[in-house]
Amino acid sequence: MIDFSAPYRLLIDGQLVDTTARLDVVNPATGVVFARCAAAGGSELDTAVAAARRALPAWKKLSASERAACIARFAAALEAHKEPLARLLTAEQGKPVGQSRDEIARAASLSVGITRIEVRDEVILDNAERFIELRWQPLGVAGIITPWNAPVNLAAGPLASALYTGNCAIIKPSPFTPLTTLRIGELLRELLPAGVVNVLAGGDELGGLLTAHADIDKISFTGSVATGKKVMASCAATLKRVTLELGGNDAAIVLPDVDVADVAKKLFFAATVNSGQVCMAVKRIYAHASIYEALCTALVAEAKKARLGDGLDPATTLGPIQNRRQFERVCELRDDARAHGHLEEGAQRPAGGGYFIAPTVVTGLAEQDRLVAEEQFGPVFPVLRYTDIEDAIQRANHTRYGLSGSVWSRDLERARAIAARLEVGTAWVNQHRITAADVPFGGAKESGLGRVYSRLGLQAYLEPQVISVLKG
Ligand code: NAD
Repeated sequence: MIDFSAPYRLLIDGQLVDTTARLDVVNPATGVVFARCAAAGGSELDTAVAAARRALPAWKKLSASERAACIARFAAALEAHKEPLARLLTAEQGKPVGQSRDEIARAASLSVGITRIEVRDEVILDNAERFIELRWQPLGVAGIITPWNAPVNLAAGPLASALYTGNCAIIKPSPFTPLTTLRIGELLRELLPAGVVNVLAGGDELGGLLTAHADIDKISFTGSVATGKKVMASCAATLKRVTLELGGNDAAIVLPDVDVADVAKKLFFAATVNSGQVCMAVKRIYAHASIYEALCTALVAEAKKARLGDGLDPATTLGPIQNRRQFERVCELRDDARAHGHLEEGAQRPAGGGYFIAPTVVTGLAEQDRLVAEEQFGPVFPVLRYTDIEDAIQRANHTRYGLSGSVWSRDLERARAIAARLEVGTAWVNQHRITAADVPFGGAKESGLGRVYSRLGLQAYLEPQVISVLKG
């Protein structure tokens, strides 16, 4: 049974391991350290990588359906332990506990969904002279580095993909949110052969050690653009395969024909769920001048309805920002927005030392203002006016980010045509932030490299090998 109390230990070679080094974990709703966990350094990493390499031959020899059965048992364990895991996730991450439950449930269903995807070897040519075959072979040991905004979900996708395709894995959660991932390590210990998965909490420097490690074959990294570039540079030394899921500055373009009240609800949720700390949150809204005022009024009304507080309080709809550094960054962007535009704040900030920021609708900003140009990763978002759709598309695309975006209209054909012109990995129509195990997701431009989920995502854990036979 999972509980809140220590110890929180690493999983290495099937053993739960304590260390003298420790990470302090802060509850963002209070700003106070509420737990400590073991922290790995280079020697624990070497031991884990050696264990993963030892486990690899037997693991990759299993059939895909045998590996899928292990992943199904893992998903069932997540479901069975959903409540304590969700409460722990909220304590360390801050999101409302209902959203934590959703994250655990989603991690479970996503993991199973991934195992329903087939990557088939294929015969390219088979004639009298030649036989040519394309085989997909596991890469070996995958390092999975996750951020603090959705630590369970963002570990589950890469983990299920790596395992299902016959790889072993080392998971390194963010030092801000290591606890739920370590508890999941305890569950995995009961379900998998020793060494197949190892869970190492640690600081940023441990991430650097993973990317540089000569016996790790692939890195799946989810995090910021700045760190993603460092990861790619470090992986270059050993030509590791790398998947990068990075930040975004998603635009939502709202056409004049929408039901304003309905769209405002959906956009508000997509901009502020998990207090806006979502890579594919709506981060800029472009509204046609004819509905601009009405949409802003409706968004402010949504902001006023929100209940800001400790995520463990069932009445809370918006939790705190996850850590002090991010809190200070969002405050800085909000102050900059206050200097250049107009702010309408919603829900009241609770008393105490938590990192709370009220949901805030910002008007009157220009493209070069920081809240428009940068990824805020917080519940403060700009609404920008346009009259000409060409201008809106051009402004939406005027960014180095390219994760996702959306277009909102009753005219589906027109909306689809506009969506196709957004320079993003995913362009939604009348929805935002919707992903599925069988649909590729990932960033264009500086929002990432490669795709997760779907056959494309699985192929990123496999090396294509050609067997070419000259007959006769
Ligand atoms: P971050 O880049 O600071 O850290 C992410 C992880 O990388 C952490 O585990 C950290 O310890 C590790 N790390 C730090 N320095 C490293 C290095 N030099 N080498 C290897 N690993 C290193 O990101 P964050 O602040 O934790 O997360 C927020 C960012 O993540 C936002 O930009 C957000 O948009 C992005 N994100 C993207 C997606 C996506 O799917 N595209 C999903 C969630 C979050």
